[in-house]
This record gives sequence, structure tokens and C-alpha cells, in this order.
Amino acid sequence: MVTATLPSSASCPPITSLRSEALLEWLDEHGQPAFRAKQIRGWLARGAPSFEAMHDLPAGLRADLAAGFRLSSLEPVAESSADRGLTTKLLYRLDGAFTVESVTMRYPRRTTLCISSQVGCPIGCPFCATGQGKFGRNLKAHEILDQALDASRRLAPAGKRLSHVVFMGMGEPMANYAAVVESVRLLADPDLLGISPRRVVVSTAGLVPRIAQLAEEKLPVTLAISLHAARDELRDYLVPINRRYPLGELVAAARDFARTTGRRVSYEWVVLAGVNDSDRDADELGRLLDPYLSHVNLIPWNPVDDTEFKGPSRNSLTRFADRIRSRGLNVTVRDTRGREADAACGQLRARAMRAEPTLAGNAIADSEGSSFDA
Ligand code: SAH
Ligand code: SF4
Repeated sequence: MVTATLPSSASCPPITSLRSEALLEWLDEHGQPAFRAKQIRGWLARGAPSFEAMHDLPAGLRADLAAGFRLSSLEPVAESSADRGLTTKLLYRLDGAFTVESVTMRYPRRTTLCISSQVGCPIGCPFCATGQGKFGRNLKAHEILDQALDASRRLAPAGKRLSHVVFMGMGEPMANYAAVVESVRLLADPDLLGISPRRVVVSTAGLVPRIAQLAEEKLPVTLAISLHAARDELRDYLVPINRRYPLGELVAAARDFARTTGRRVSYEWVVLAGVNDSDRDADELGRLLDPYLSHVNLIPWNPVDDTEFKGPSRNSLTRFADRIRSRGLNVTVRDTRGREADAACGQLRARAMRAEPTLAGNAIADSEGSSFDA
């Protein structure tokens, strides 16, 4: 189910775009003490629907805030749900008219948000809906944070909180490195959502220099590498950045990351029937990875329109997983959460765009660089 709502005007800056010092300065100019900043952040984290609803702030301050700021940089334009409401996917319009999406997945003991870091993606993997479209622009740190704040706002009435974040939505997080790292720090801010980096996964197609840089950030995030092939010839095709950073360099960088941070690297493998699910593929993977430092996640491919790929049958998936396990590696098979919600990255956007082409955004002048900064 996809529903669309009408956009409203977006003239004031979103409050989340203000750095700490800027908010303090603004409060000072409006005759308010510094502790109001903490109160405002607390309300944002608890999902206040408006400045007016922040009822322990003086009425004058609430009015000044409402006159000067928006609550969020994001405007929801479409929503879909699946798994009897346990999975919800939101499409948001950003300033500058581009759109991005995020998916909330509710489990018994945790709630995970799959977040976008770019409009489109410059890597162009042929099996991925995001990779099929044009690259738009990098998201700002507050636009990434706002996806999590909006998800929290929607979870709050049911008494639920966001516990985990995975950078597995649209875009290549390592190609928007500075904003992604800043957003991980914002997500961890105890005055905001307080989501520890330990509960954050950053997934990358393999921008080797950025992996080395991330290892030095002292941010204990989990690194996920989208491998999908264990020989260069096949990976050059499935994940084209492999031509720049081939498997040998990628796995060495991941190994260094695991050693520096003491955290196991997770390897993602989208299973494409007849393309990367043979015994040969499993054996090559077994030879490539160190079992002590890695974990393999198999993801059955979620169908994308206008592509020739096929997902695996249940039997061939089990066989492939067993074969990798027999090579000594830890393997899990990812559930197919959100299929009906078009939950693989870029799919809700692709569908909504077919229904209403203006959602693609026409603000090409707003785009910041045509490619990635690795
Ligand atoms: N660009 C980053 C993060 C976003 S993609 C990356 O590639 O790692 C997150 C994961 O979703 C990646 O492992 C990607 O390969 C996978 N993915 C993309 N399209 C998919 C599809 N149609 N079905 C299943 N997984 C998909
Ligand atoms: Fe980009 Fe990741 Fe999709 Fe590849 S799989 S096109 S890197 S979002």
C-alpha cells in the first residue's frame, strides 16, 4: 500500500540543523538559559509532534521556536507497511525536493531503523533498485538524524523506542563519510536518542580508504561489507567499485578494521540464483575470509523491477549456507522482512516515482558533487 500526502512550504531551517553552540546562541539571543537546549532535545527524542507540545517550555519560547524553525528537515510523502504493521517504510521529501526512504522493523526485543545516507547511489550495483536510479546528493548529518527522530516520533504512541540503526537504506555511507560519522555521533547523543554506536551497523560496498579511516574514529560501530562475490571477475560486475578497490585490498582493510577495533566484521551476500550461489562461490568465500574475524549474512535477493536477476529457492539457499558453514565460517540467513513494503533499498521510491514522477526531485542544482568523495 502506498499513500501520498501533499507537501507544505519549507521556509524556516529545521531545528536539528543547528549545532549545539548555535542553539545556545539562539537561546541566549532570546533571553533563555542554556538548559532549555537539553529540554528541547529531550522533546525531539521523545517524539513531540510540535513545538507547541513542549509544555514545560515557556509559551513565549514555544512561539519563538515555531516562528523560527521547523521540527524536521523531512516531509513524509508516502508510507507503506508489511508484516502486519511490524515493518513500515517511509518516503520523505528533503529540502531541495529530492526524496529518500527509511524502514522501521519491529521485533520482540528491539526496533531497528534502516536509514538512508544519500539520494540515489553513485556505485550502481545492477541488482539494486537504488543503484538503477540517478545519483542525487549526499544527505546532511541532520537529515540522517531526522529519519531516526521521525521513526521515534511514530513509535512513541505505542510506547516503543528505536534501539538499533543500520545504514542499509539508500546510498553508500562511506561515500558521504563526514556526514555519516557526524550522524552516528548525533544518534549517540544522550540528550537525543542515546543510540550507542554498538547498536549501529555501517554497511559499505567497499571504499577501502574510508574503512581505514573509520577504524581510527573510536566509534565502536559494526562494519558490514557488501561482498556478494569472492572473485574479482564477478564482483567487478556485481559491485562496480571493486574495479577500483579489488577483493584483496578490501578484505585486508576489513581485517585491519577488525584488529584495530576488536569488532568482528559482518559480510553481506545478496544471493542471486545462478549468479553467486554455486559450490564454487561458497568455496571461494571460505578461502577468502578468516573465520575468527568474520560473520557472513546471506540475504535472499528482493526482486527489483526491470532486472534479470532471480532470488534463490529455499533449498538452494540452505545448501549454499551449509556449504559455507562447512568451510568453517559463521553464517546467518537474513529474514525477508518487509517484502510487501518494497523494503529493499530504493524500492518504495522507485514505485512512488512511477506513480508520481515529481517525487524524483528536480533540484539538480542542489546536488553536491556528482560522485563519491573516496
Ligand atoms: N550501499 C551500501 C549500503 C546500502 S545497501 C551497501 O551496498 O552496503 C544495503 C544492503 O542491501 C547491501 O548489502 C546491498 O547489497 C543490499 N541490497 C541491495 N539491493 C537489494 C535487493 N534487491 N535485495 C536484497 N538486498 C539488496
Ligand atoms: Fe549503492 Fe549499496 Fe545499492 Fe550498491 S547495493 S547501488 S552500493 S546502495
